[in-house]
Amino acid sequence: MRTIDDFTRPREFVSPIDDYFGRIVRRWADEEVIPNRRRYDEDWQEHLLIEPAFDQLMGKLGLQRVLFPEDLGGWGLGHSHYIGSASFRLMEEVARADTGMAVAFGVTFWPLIMICNEPHLNRRLCEEFAPLFCQTEKAVFAANAMTEPQGGADIENMEIIKGATIQTTARLEGDEWVINGHKLWPTNSGGICSLFGVVCTTKPGSTDLNDFAFIFVPADRPGVTQGKPYQKAGMAADKNGDIWFDQVRVPSHYRACGPGDDFKYFKEVISFGNLGSIAFVSGALLNVFEIIKNFSETNYHRNLPLKENDALAGVLADLARDTEIIRILGYQYARMLDRPDLYGERWNEELVTKGRVYKYFACDRALDIIGKVMNLMEASGSDRRWDIEKHWRDLKIVQLWMGGKQLCQMETARWFYECETL
Ligand SMILES: Cc1cc2nc3c(=O)[nH]c(=O)nc-3n(C[C@H](O)[C@H](O)[C@H](O)COP(=O)(O)OP(=O)(O)OC[C@H]3O[C@@H](n4cnc5c(N)ncnc54)[C@H](O)[C@@H]3O)c2cc1C
Repeated sequence: MRTIDDFTRPREFVSPIDDYFGRIVRRWADEEVIPNRRRYDEDWQEHLLIEPAFDQLMGKLGLQRVLFPEDLGGWGLGHSHYIGSASFRLMEEVARADTGMAVAFGVTFWPLIMICNEPHLNRRLCEEFAPLFCQTEKAVFAANAMTEPQGGADIENMEIIKGATIQTTARLEGDEWVINGHKLWPTNSGGICSLFGVVCTTKPGSTDLNDFAFIFVPADRPGVTQGKPYQKAGMAADKNGDIWFDQVRVPSHYRACGPGDDFKYFKEVISFGNLGSIAFVSGALLNVFEIIKNFSETNYHRNLPLKENDALAGVLADLARDTEIIRILGYQYARMLDRPDLYGERWNEELVTKGRVYKYFACDRALDIIGKVMNLMEASGSDRRWDIEKHWRDLKIVQLWMGGKQLCQMETARWFYECETL
């Protein structure tokens, strides 16, 4: 019997932990999430059902520790040569069950990339923050706070805007940063975050790369206020809200990499954000495949299972094609991030752009094909019992974040066509 494991994974370069951890997360997803996920939409504020599943994955199984060095209680993924392919598999398996959980889990690593990854490991900050994540069996969340009320896409549009629109300020006073500003939408905000990585400027309006600062702010510092979570079209497991920083003081060494390097390595954060987004699409599509395979074998048209009808089999084929290609594409991008000797550094413009290319391709294809799968299911396509409409709602959200489709298009056009004004 064909299963999702018949979709291709590039066996010559999957990580050594791929199979082992893949199977662990698969079991967690099948036991802890998939039986309950239909009730997650109503649990968006309280997380009464969602929180125990996070505790199991991130705390008890310990996956929130993976980036930190081994001697600090982590699993050393940050300095491995397979961080890309290992993260792709983990994110894909979680997303197969719930893309909202996948983004909340993945974004916990997002700011930590700035301090846990070679060649810019910040040992002092790793030592300071590792216990928070590694010495507990409860899920602990971090957030990457970049989007602001005046726009998120401009802040991510780093090559052109160079941080000039950032309005959250960091002022050095003695040996402390004083942070003021308003962020909104970060995954894991909405009240559950323990540690923020905050994108700030040391000089508003500046395009000097040295003025772009990435500073860690523990959520319990005086002056940090988290608003209530927003109610979204889906992804209830991901809380998003406002955060206000009002004269918040943190030690000066909480700046991740320093002048110039914060800007440089934040582009690596963007690359991993795109990798994660592709993995979320891939995981959700794998589950759509599982659902529609079952549906098309147990529902009939003219006394034949749906899958035995030419027109319907064409849609099923397109779903298998898109799933196969998006998965291969995601692993290829993971490999590109894992092999700087072949593809260049993760923070270079080419790799950031190619991540955007693959991310928006994956989202466009997935939304198109899931829409067609829903047509095939007719009324059942809208029936929450089948979970298809859930993936459709969730993947629309994946398309909207990280600057949305337009920023992906602009960066793609800029790089491939050498545009000068975009
Ligand atoms: C579920 C979810 C999770 C999120 N997680 C995070 C997170 O972890 N951290 C975080 O900081 N933010 C997060 N966001 C916010 C998200 O990244 C932003 O919403 C996104 O970057 C777009 O920013 P914006 O909504 O401010 O739109 P704007 O930046 O105001 O964009 C407005 C419009 O202008 C278009 N546009 C912008 N730039 C260009 C350009 N150069 N050329 C053409 N058109 C352009 C945009 O595509 C859009 O149509 C999340 C959002 C969601 C929905």
